[in-house]
Amino acid sequence: MEMGKESEKIDNKNREDEKEENGKVPGKERKDFSPGETARIYLRILKLIWRHFPNNLVSVAMSKLFKAALPYITLYFSARFLDELAGARRPEILTRWVVLVLVVSAAASLLERILFRWERAEIYNFHWNHQAELFGKKLLETEFAKMDDPDTVDRLTQIEQNNMFMGHGINMFMGHIDKLLEGIFLIFGGMLLSWSLFTRPVAEPYAGSVGWKAAQAGILLAVLITILLRPLFHKREREDTLAYSSHGTAANRKFFWYGMRFYDKTENAADVRIYRQDVFDSEELADCNRNLLGNAEIMFRRVIGKCRAGSAMFSHLTMGGIYLYVCLKAWFGAFGVGSVTRYVGALNSMANGAASVLNLFAEARTNAYYLNKICEFLDISNEMYQGSLTVEKRNDRNYEVEFRDVSFRYPNTREYALRHVNMRFRVGERLAVVGENGSGKTTFIKLLCRLYDPTEGQILLNGIDIRKYDYQEYLSVFSVVFQDFQLLSLGLGQNVAAGTVYDTGRVRDCLGKAGLADWLAKQPEGLETKLYKEIAVGEGVEVSGGEEQKIAIARSMYRDAPFVILDEPTAALDPVSEYEVYSHFNDIIADCTAIYISHRLSSCRFCDEIAVFHQGSIIEKGTHEQLLGQGGKYCELWTAQAQYYI
Ligand code: ADP
Repeated sequence: MEMGKESEKIDNKNREDEKEENGKVPGKERKDFSPGETARIYLRILKLIWRHFPNNLVSVAMSKLFKAALPYITLYFSARFLDELAGARRPEILTRWVVLVLVVSAAASLLERILFRWERAEIYNFHWNHQAELFGKKLLETEFAKMDDPDTVDRLTQIEQNNMFMGHGINMFMGHIDKLLEGIFLIFGGMLLSWSLFTRPVAEPYAGSVGWKAAQAGILLAVLITILLRPLFHKREREDTLAYSSHGTAANRKFFWYGMRFYDKTENAADVRIYRQDVFDSEELADCNRNLLGNAEIMFRRVIGKCRAGSAMFSHLTMGGIYLYVCLKAWFGAFGVGSVTRYVGALNSMANGAASVLNLFAEARTNAYYLNKICEFLDISNEMYQGSLTVEKRNDRNYEVEFRDVSFRYPNTREYALRHVNMRFRVGERLAVVGENGSGKTTFIKLLCRLYDPTEGQILLNGIDIRKYDYQEYLSVFSVVFQDFQLLSLGLGQNVAAGTVYDTGRVRDCLGKAGLADWLAKQPEGLETKLYKEIAVGEGVEVSGGEEQKIAIARSMYRDAPFVILDEPTAALDPVSEYEVYSHFNDIIADCTAIYISHRLSSCRFCDEIAVFHQGSIIEKGTHEQLLGQGGKYCELWTAQAQYYI
């Protein structure tokens, strides 16, 4: 055992009582964020993306820069061509411009598409893979106890839902980065190309007339008003979207359950058929549909529809004004007819760019609410004490674990699931844990594996509080088959080895010891066989409950940890398979310390010690014979079970 310097003090008080839950004040949900707060939230997300996925930002910047430059390149060359056409019409010059327009437009379009493709690939990857990676890793880092709090998973569901429903959240953030860059490039490009529209005078005798100056001021004012009106329309839209969003969450959740999760689950299929659970007929679903459609109608048709139509009307009116002004200037000789398209295009791009930048500032304030939800999720703290000691890998497996007066309550519950538990595991011992349902057996195992920390008391590994060890190091001491173990829809070998790179010989050996040698021989894909059809459509195999349990036992053997914990390891096995597993039990456990939970008391007889749990406490301890002799709880359970086997 490496002791290291350990001066950490562990506060043993129940932390939930002291801490305000993730800084969340119940009942006070912030919806409106000031521009300053919005900027801070945006900056945080920008840094996050830059740190984890910089390619996303680089590809967007490059693609937008070029996309913004593209119209100006073609506008410039086509203006030259039109001017020549309307002026001297020299064939060789016209040919030159035509060739140039074609070559430059084709090359620029090609480059723009290449950059766009890169950007899309990055964004797509970001939407579907990177975000899942970001949030998934966070969830994995989060202490297990937080998973009991529905709020933890709920937050993630909400983030996904916001993203799917109106694209709010990180996807919209990326869209905003996109629009911001595009808008800035459009504004600067437009200013550059339209500058001479205002400086070039019309031909005499109209040059310098007050009418022109007024028209010029009028057109600039109209452009400005259109730009400024956009965010005002958006403000209204934002208020209504936010009002709807919290309302829609509950309805959406039901809708997803009824609409997808209910009928696409094969696990549901048998029960639903037998009991004819026709949920589609339910009043609740009808109500949920009415709610959802009613709200969508209000939002899209009445509210958002009006706002967007109003904003579009103003920009089209301004566009008409711009056309009129530019055409009149060309008519009165300020420039050639070829420049009309260039100026109208430039002014239009500039106005669109400016409006879109201003609009996105308003949109960003709406999105700040959703991004804040993401920040809150990422800020969920891990309140478990994080030790740093390493656990020495001992060949003699001389590890000793002790429960010292351990009591435990699950988060947010008042009742104790364990009360004053004292227990010491001797090295190489086989311990059976028995007791009625709900007596605390699984909780005992969960504390041992540090999925939770004791509310009171201590658990020690070789005399040191387990909280002082590095968490992953400590976990590596255990191999567990939980009662509700889970296999993944991945390859068989990958499941057994819990990794993609594995020793095929050892995997086969473990599967054989778990009683799956014949089953494995029948699988054409061998260790590559994909379990379940969830991912591997058409090629995955469905496995029975018993086979699953054997694979889980093989997984625990492959891990080769000094402590083996088996929670109801043979519950799903038929008598023959159960016998097979027991006959290999010594192989499975080898020289490990084994803790074994079972309702089949006959299978506990081979254990060195039996601990009987009752209402969260250990009430009896001893060998099978000793406990029977005492005539207590164990004897009662044994007698009750024996009746069925006579
Ligand atoms: P056993 O394994 O002996 O059947 P458990 O250890 O699973 O019993 O449960 C002990 C007690 O703790 C029971 O009263 C159960 O309802 C409660 N319990 C178990 N898991 C949780 C949980 N995640 N949150 C709250 N209470 C729980």
